[in-house]
Amino acid sequence: MKKRLLLVLLALPGVISLTILLPFPKSRLSPGHVVSLRLLDRNGTLLREVLSDEGGRCRWVQLDEVSPHLLRATIAAEDKLFFLHRGVNTISMLRALLQNLRRGEVVSGASTITQQLVRNLYPAPRNVWVKLRESWLALRLECTLSKQEILAQYINRISYGNQAYGIEAASRLYLDKPSSQLSLAEAAFLAAIPRSPTLLNPYRAFRGVKKRQLDILGKMLELGLIAGAEHDRARAEDLCLLPATERFRAPHFCDFVLSQVPSEERKTLSAIGTTLDYGLQRKIEILLKNGLSAMEGRGIENGAVVVLDNRSGEILSLVGSRDFFDEAHDGQVNGVLALRQPGSTLKPFTYGLALENGLTAASLIEDSPDQLRNVEGNYRPQNYDRRYHGLISLRTALACSYNIPAVAVLQAIGPDLLYRRLQSIGFESLRETPGYYGLGLTLGNGEVSLLELARAYSVLARRGLYLRERTIMSLVRKDGQEDPLPIREAAERAFSPQIAYIITNILADRDARTPSFGYHNPLSFPFPVAAKTGTSKDFRDNWTVGYSPRYTVGVWVGNFDGEPMHNVSGITGCGPLFKDIMLLLHKGEAGTDFTEPKGIVTSAVCPRSGLRPNEFCPGVVKEVFIEGTEPREECTHHQKNPAVLLVAEKRNGEPAPARFAITFPRDGDIFKLDPVLRKEHQRIKLRAVFPVTKYPARIKWWVNGDKVGETGPPFSIFWNLRPGSFTIKATAVSDGPPVESRPVKVVVLT
Ligand SMILES: [Zn+2]
Repeated sequence: MKKRLLLVLLALPGVISLTILLPFPKSRLSPGHVVSLRLLDRNGTLLREVLSDEGGRCRWVQLDEVSPHLLRATIAAEDKLFFLHRGVNTISMLRALLQNLRRGEVVSGASTITQQLVRNLYPAPRNVWVKLRESWLALRLECTLSKQEILAQYINRISYGNQAYGIEAASRLYLDKPSSQLSLAEAAFLAAIPRSPTLLNPYRAFRGVKKRQLDILGKMLELGLIAGAEHDRARAEDLCLLPATERFRAPHFCDFVLSQVPSEERKTLSAIGTTLDYGLQRKIEILLKNGLSAMEGRGIENGAVVVLDNRSGEILSLVGSRDFFDEAHDGQVNGVLALRQPGSTLKPFTYGLALENGLTAASLIEDSPDQLRNVEGNYRPQNYDRRYHGLISLRTALACSYNIPAVAVLQAIGPDLLYRRLQSIGFESLRETPGYYGLGLTLGNGEVSLLELARAYSVLARRGLYLRERTIMSLVRKDGQEDPLPIREAAERAFSPQIAYIITNILADRDARTPSFGYHNPLSFPFPVAAKTGTSKDFRDNWTVGYSPRYTVGVWVGNFDGEPMHNVSGITGCGPLFKDIMLLLHKGEAGTDFTEPKGIVTSAVCPRSGLRPNEFCPGVVKEVFIEGTEPREECTHHQKNPAVLLVAEKRNGEPAPARFAITFPRDGDIFKLDPVLRKEHQRIKLRAVFPVTKYPARIKWWVNGDKVGETGPPFSIFWNLRPGSFTIKATAVSDGPPVESRPVKVVVLT
């Protein structure tokens, strides 16, 4: 019996030794699957690495891809006898075992690199038995893998803190460079961390890591791994730790991209190639910060910018706030997606529809309090300058952004039409019914986002084609397969190329906006740029949106909490910032002109009447028209003007008619002919107002039942006086049945 036991006891070490020869399970050694998702800019720059719950960053590299400094530093730091032992350092292990038995606790520091690797492969609570099992597995591992292979496994698997697993992930995380390019100082710095990634967290305990780095450099010198001069240089080297915020580049944009990828799909991806240009993004982030600093004292805390490539619809830059990390000012709110009132920025679409419905850029629209009487309901807008400008062309009305003509035109075409068109060009935020917004829609009473505005303006830049913006260029699956997304989705026509061109031509017309904004305003460029500004009620929001043929830029400034700003208009607010960004985008380029589509003609018009100029018109302007809509008849406003004699009863203060009506002469007016003046010079101008409810409108004038003439806007015509009693009537010629004015009776005395 005793003999048998003795035999077993004697055989046991042999059996254990034999089990060491059992091959190590290879499945454990395959590279850890990539659990992080990387977001890249269009040039491959890392914007963000998204970590899943079950792991962290890990990028497997071959041993020869890693800086040799790092390998030496790791050996010096963790296991200087690595190339000499067979997986277990017997002497130090026995010493640790004795200490453990004496103190009843586990003392670390005796583990070889091989043992640490085993612990990484088989995580378990640490006690003496686990430690023995580790040693046994370490011996087996040494029989299965070469020293080089073990080292490769180790540096790819070990934790470097902050969810970085492996040297490549750590090197990119802390130093923003591949591990192949680590200097000696950097290598020793990173090699210091795995001992205790929590206590030696470079972001929290930089000095602690630095101290251990110096220790490691000392050991390397001692072991003869480096020369004295190398050691001294490395000690003196300044370490440039990449700030934690730098791993969070273009934060609002990345959040936006991630929100577009369903979480189920995200799990299958290792990288998303985005459309962002990070170089541009950095510059625009700085421009925004500087621009907001320049506006200090005006109650503006925040701003947002989006830049689209018109050809592809790709988002090249998206800055959601002044500073994502500024919690005091809600920096995490994405100002590009936030819903706010857009001020005047929707007017171009109102006028685009007006052009579709028969108006031209030369059409005259009345900017007067009378016009407001025609507005249904109790909606009473005011112009920005609180003045009225009389009869103005559509071009002036849009370029100067007057409110009353915009409302009048919208009433004429119907707010439903604008609502539906805005929806079709991507204003999904307008969720209420058209009736909810009413005529105020054109003045920005609906809440929309900066992205929606930029998207809509890019339709005009694309000559009327609607194209959804893109943020993703390619998706890389975890198995390495890359799915490029099609570059172009089918674009839908929202406006005809001619209408888009005319609106663009107006928005790029520096002269036309001069009456309202002055000549030297920030919207003047050395190359063609179409732009529009907007300010919401009470100065809460300030917008500039515009485009060159290549890029569309949207800028908003204001406050996320809705605090009003002080004396800020689009021109003084974000206008300069818009200009800086446009100039940056076209740096070193001449900038191309907006191409004129077929079917556009340029024609001279009299600015007072919008008609073909005659020899008496004091001024003539060139206007662009869709072929066939240019005016045919001559100006009726300017004629050789006689001294008109009239003795009319004055009726000051009488309200102007709300409907189609003759405004001059008035019913009951009495005129007296001058005995001296030649008869043909004694004439009066008949005038009527016609609410812009049904363009195109022409008016026929009747005196005592005889037609005396026909006019378009501004609905006035000369009539030669002769003695007698007269009944004057006007009839409107439109699509529907003729509308008749109330008759006006006048008497002309000799
Ligand atoms: Zn004229």
